[in-house]
Amino acid sequence: MVVPSGLQLITMGVKYQPRVSTEISFNSFALHEDVMEGALAMGFEKPTPIQEQAVPVALEGKDIIGIAQTGTGKTAAFLLPTMSRILQGDRKGIGALIIVPTRELAIQIDQAIEGLGYFAGISSMAIYGGGDASEFSQEKKALTSDTDIIVATPGRMMSHLNLGYADFSHLKCFILDEADRMLDMGFYQDIIRIVKTINSDRQTLLFSATMPDNIRQLAKQIQKDPVQINIALSKPAEGILQGAYVVFDHQKPDLIGHLLEGKDLKSVIVFSSTKRGVSEVYRMLRKKGLNCASISSDLEQKEREQVMLDFKNRKTAILVATDVVSRGIDIDDIELVINYDVPNDAEDYVHRIGRTARAAKTGVGLTLVGPDDQRKFVKIEQLIGSEIRKLQVPSDLGAVPEYNPPRRKPGNKGKFNHGRSKKPRYPKKR
Ligand code: AMP
Repeated sequence: MVVPSGLQLITMGVKYQPRVSTEISFNSFALHEDVMEGALAMGFEKPTPIQEQAVPVALEGKDIIGIAQTGTGKTAAFLLPTMSRILQGDRKGIGALIIVPTRELAIQIDQAIEGLGYFAGISSMAIYGGGDASEFSQEKKALTSDTDIIVATPGRMMSHLNLGYADFSHLKCFILDEADRMLDMGFYQDIIRIVKTINSDRQTLLFSATMPDNIRQLAKQIQKDPVQINIALSKPAEGILQGAYVVFDHQKPDLIGHLLEGKDLKSVIVFSSTKRGVSEVYRMLRKKGLNCASISSDLEQKEREQVMLDFKNRKTAILVATDVVSRGIDIDDIELVINYDVPNDAEDYVHRIGRTARAAKTGVGLTLVGPDDQRKFVKIEQLIGSEIRKLQVPSDLGAVPEYNPPRRKPGNKGKFNHGRSKKPRYPKKR
């Protein structure tokens, strides 16, 4: 195991398991040879579990519900068969439409198409909000010519659809990625409107990290007899070393300084749930002289792209971010993810720390748990089915609180058992 430099001490003893590679090779799938070449050129030798299960089913043209999180290789799981099917068909009109929740994910998938589709000459366009008039007209051009694959955010897609020129009557495949996230963002009706403009004999692939009722309902509405593929729901990718520091809120700035200063880390993301938190942490890290930048939905699209690019190219070592970048963003070799606070939604924890340990690498996810975070943190431990190791806080930070969160008793829905504490520290809000 290779633990990123400077992190041995903080992560010592945290349990990890390397990702098991499968024995099947890409050759055993009936992928188009140019697509195979693209996969090999990207360094893909063996399929990941989601690819192993999804690729053959998708190649048969069947609908799929894939329950898989980022980091499992799900992008290639839908791109490889979709590209193959496009190449094997008449290549008339737009071949595939991929709808995604965020601009960043749209750009990232577009880049994956460029890589995997290089030898096949697959054309693609990412369509997302925030661009200027010339970008809009480029998008229009892509939508009115035989572009093989369009990747779009729902809002921007609707803007084009409302103008009446987009033609999706020849689609081979319609794909929804991070579908649960899109429904959380309120895009259910937009998705239904988009689906209504597409030929009904297309294939529909739906990928989601979770499977709540509204996803089931959506699947029923837009899919035909889908095959369900389930990959380790709500579990952080194997290979991530996880740890938590139980502290008072006022100790967090010093602790984060201790974790980051003098460690020579090249690629770190610090998450905060709020924009305010992001700007506080950013200012504090700047004050300490650390090489950092911040990103939140407040930034203009162009600024966001620049910040991401600088981080990707290692010009910036530390990126302070809200959950805008936590889902679906593929940046290689992030050494460390720090949660400055505990995410409100336990699933977001999995997505946040999923930024490290991408495909068979190892990374570290550390969480600073303040007194008000404890209740949320125990929910995360319940969701992932294991306790996250509590790490020793440096003694010069002073006394720390006890980890004593309210725990839900089995079968006692909605009621919390407050551990050993006689006087509950948490109001029974529920
Ligand atoms: P994803 O879950 O689609 O965001 O993919 C996570 C990362 O795994 C990306 O960097 C991919 O390029 C990489 N990846 C996907 N499939 C494979 C594979 N079969 N072998 C090696 N790396 C892969």
